[in-house]
Amino acid sequence: EKRRWSNILGADLQDLAPATVFDQILAKALPSQVVFENDKVLAFRDIAPQAPVHILVIPKRRAGLTALRKASREQKGVLGEMLVAVAEIVRQENIEGGYRVIVNDGEEAGQSVHHLHMHILAGRPLAWPPG
Ligand code: C5P
Repeated sequence: EKRRWSNILGADLQDLAPATVFDQILAKALPSQVVFENDKVLAFRDIAPQAPVHILVIPKRRAGLTALRKASREQKGVLGEMLVAVAEIVRQENIEGGYRVIVNDGEEAGQSVHHLHMHILAGRPLAWPPG
């Protein structure tokens, strides 16, 4: 019954969280430097880069994914799409010498935008553990 209603309503109608700046980027109301795009994900350069390469990968439909902890098994498709996009971007951008993929979830982790995103950082040595 729950699944039936969720199919009828569609994931977007269940997403009652406030819109974020990423919605404006997706709508092209805010300009961004897009590096990769398909029907499921958008990737663009971070406005405040923390490394020579700093790219954000986001799902086009947030569908309740304000943070990774909200993910459900039904969303494994888009979650996989995000990681495959990371691999495609790394090849496309000729990132050599290593890179890091980061998901900040929650205030203490430094999450500031409540629309799931993966950071790709590269182009300099990356300290471990991260701060
Ligand atoms: O993980 P966190 O939520 O902190 O990451 C959000 C990222 O979105 C930041 O790195 C920030 O620089 C980036 N951002 C952006 N363009 C905006 C607003 C935020 O690239 N207009």
